[in-house]
Amino acid sequence: MDFTLTDEQEMLRETVWKLGTDFGHRYYSKKAAAGQPAAELWNAISSAGFVGVAIPEAYDGGGLGMTEMTIVIEELSAAGCPLLNLVVLSVCAPVIERYGTQEQKERWLPGMARGQIRMAFAITEPDAGSNSHRIATKAVPDGQGYRLSGAKYWISGVDESDLMMVVARTGTDESTGRARLSLFVVDTDASGIEQHPIASHVITTERQFSLFFDDVAVGHDRLLGNEGDGLRQIFHGLNPERVTSAAVATGIGRFALAKASAQATQRRVWNVPIGAHQGLAHPLAKAKIHLEHARLATQRAAWLIDNGVDAGEAANMAKYAAAEAALEALDEAIQVHGGSGLSAEVGLADLWGVARLYRIAPVSSEMILNYVAERSLGLPRSY
Ligand SMILES: Cc1cc2nc3c(=O)[nH]c(=O)nc-3n(C[C@H](O)[C@H](O)[C@H](O)COP(=O)(O)OP(=O)(O)OC[C@H]3O[C@@H](n4cnc5c(N)ncnc54)[C@H](O)[C@@H]3O)c2cc1C
Repeated sequence: MDFTLTDEQEMLRETVWKLGTDFGHRYYSKKAAAGQPAAELWNAISSAGFVGVAIPEAYDGGGLGMTEMTIVIEELSAAGCPLLNLVVLSVCAPVIERYGTQEQKERWLPGMARGQIRMAFAITEPDAGSNSHRIATKAVPDGQGYRLSGAKYWISGVDESDLMMVVARTGTDESTGRARLSLFVVDTDASGIEQHPIASHVITTERQFSLFFDDVAVGHDRLLGNEGDGLRQIFHGLNPERVTSAAVATGIGRFALAKASAQATQRRVWNVPIGAHQGLAHPLAKAKIHLEHARLATQRAAWLIDNGVDAGEAANMAKYAAAEAALEALDEAIQVHGGSGLSAEVGLADLWGVARLYRIAPVSSEMILNYVAERSLGLPRSY
């Protein structure tokens, strides 16, 4: 394993960075504060081929992997533009690629690669939360297909999406009581779907929604893979989602530390730059060390996915470490700026919600600790 970027990856990194900084955090935060999508940025990264970088060339993508997808996401985030929509894409595209029929792949993947077809991802439910086995949204066969009923919450970017991948119960395992889950690709404007925006302090260019499905008709051609095998199938997207979430977080960490270093070097309150005081320098140095550890863990998890190796443990650990590193870097960067750290002008505090999000989503830090305790250390399961 060598995590030095290849010449092509370095070129990709530089090009994305340039594009991201052309827009910059000022653009992003203005859109986010107004509750508007980053449409111009999305169009720019779509036409540059960055959105579809990890989708196979056969479907109009770049034919590269999760390593390149994390480069795209981290660079944009480090430029002050953390895009949740790219994280959502990194769940949906791999699942379609792996479990979709040829017809489904041809119908959706080229549009997704070009950034023209947008797909949200809906697994979380008010009464199930971290426990997907309790998912209650059900899909009942009706002869022509299925009828979908239930509720989802905290679903990102539904208003910007044409479609959404919905995880629904198509049966129950009688021996365990656990849901048998299936995956459906549903039109966001299908009759019977209600969308309600959730007011939140996560200030991103994507809005979050509660969704209600009332007897929504879904054709057979919208079932992905095998009925009842959805939980196993969705993990093909959940590990990439953890890795790309980690990349958003490490990007925020880089953004914060760059601002902090500039401020610590330039600002003088006594007779030396404030960065000369170890009380400020050491916390920043520690944040840098933790951030680089998290970046390495993220690159390793992406590498494992690209090489077809089980990345469950690595992806979980990377996401955990990245969330902590982002929050540490952001907090120290705010501290270095003193009162200005909380100003809109400096543009750090508005990223707090999105950095904090990564301790909760797409899987919470506690559930990752459960995973590591049980799977990595062999400790008994507590729940
Ligand atoms: C901004 C935002 C965007 C999101 N986008 C999406 C999206 O696009 N699609 C989607 O499907 N979901 C999305 N989510 C939902 C997100 O994935 C969930 O919030 C997350 O999985 C946690 O579920 P929950 O909120 O129901 O918390 P709960 O499951 O109710 O958990 C609450 C707390 O209890 C802890 N806990 C629960 N069980 C255990 C246990 N066994 N051991 C120890 N601690 C435990 C959790 O760690 C957490 O701290 C988003 C959330 C947010 C905030």
